[in-house]
Amino acid sequence: MAVGGETVSFQAVRETNLGVVLRTVRALAPCSRSAVASATGLNKTTVSSLVADLMARGLVRETGETAQPRVGRPGVLLALDDTSVAAVGLEVNVDYLSVIAVDLLTRELLSEHIPFDARSAGAEACARRVAEALRRTLGRPALQERTVVGIGIAVPGLIDTETGTVTRAPNLDWSGVPLRERVLALLRAAGADDVPVHVDNDANLGALAEYRVGSFARTPDLVYVTGEVGIGAGVLSGGELLRGANGFAGEIGHVSVAPEGPECSCGRGGCLEALAGIEAIVRACVPDLVPAAALSGTDVAELVEATVERASSGDATAVSALETAGTWLGRGLAALVNITNPRRVVLGGYFVPLGPWLLPSCRTAAREGVFAPDTGGCGIELSDLGLSAAARGGAAAMIHALDAGRLPLPTPRTTATS
Ligand SMILES: [Zn+2]
Repeated sequence: MAVGGETVSFQAVRETNLGVVLRTVRALAPCSRSAVASATGLNKTTVSSLVADLMARGLVRETGETAQPRVGRPGVLLALDDTSVAAVGLEVNVDYLSVIAVDLLTRELLSEHIPFDARSAGAEACARRVAEALRRTLGRPALQERTVVGIGIAVPGLIDTETGTVTRAPNLDWSGVPLRERVLALLRAAGADDVPVHVDNDANLGALAEYRVGSFARTPDLVYVTGEVGIGAGVLSGGELLRGANGFAGEIGHVSVAPEGPECSCGRGGCLEALAGIEAIVRACVPDLVPAAALSGTDVAELVEATVERASSGDATAVSALETAGTWLGRGLAALVNITNPRRVVLGGYFVPLGPWLLPSCRTAAREGVFAPDTGGCGIELSDLGLSAAARGGAAAMIHALDAGRLPLPTPRTTATS
């Protein structure tokens, strides 16, 4: 070991061990200090000191109950502290912002859906609106007494997660937008405390939300598909996000399923989202209500509602267009299932209210298109996280990063006692 490196090294080891104990308490809670020591291989004195540190930082608490082991002294039980820290997630979509805050157990503290025409607003106005929504959220009573460990922002596009730059988001008409930098600067200018900000693809964060809190939580091989104007997929393989070399994996919306098909927002022809994205669906289902020009963000939600009404009343145009869109979707998903072999594909966003009419043909087309029998054992289901999945995933990603030691731990509020 290099001379002079020992202090740094001690600090690094301690931080790693704090993370190990935090993850162990999450996995075993309620559990005693001795149980943590046995599970981690750390000695009891070290565990006691690390637990005291985590308690001072508001991450672990004593439950007030004791364990009665067969041998040895009774031990006070520990659990994660759900009262002191929070993480925030925010999704930017074509027609809305969605904000969520969660506690250390990823349980919701507050949520807000803000209709917002991000598509017409432009990147700078959108960054301002995002910063304003975050500043207001950070000031809400539910968060005032808590340390916010991080903010995860979801955007429908290709993201450079290292820099938080939106490389390309055709449905927002953004390219090369340094979103993290702008939001941080605006929050600082508004006098907000410095909080780490992470920007990621909406489908990736939606997949994380499904994995942590959705109906199919803990399914390690899971695909989440966004059902917005754009279609994207977040692919979890063995519980880890499949990102690829540059983080662009899962762009299933731009797989060409009908080369002679309609032009896509990306400039190519016959992409899946040009046939089964929400804009394509509402244009086919309620043609008399759709303006000829590009849809504004605010049109989208209203047109989906109108589509649901028509389909519910048995309108032949709407029902048949949904069935066709479901078939295209199933063909696109078949390609993904053939390559990634997931246990579940979870459809999110506006695919959920449209699910009753999309799913039957989607499942049939997927079964026909997947090489392995019975769709490779993969179920295609609807999400129950509504339009907040990606925001929820943004918040969950920050809790996940805290556990994994990729975020600074909150500063101790009191002095550690042992
Ligand atoms: Zn495309």
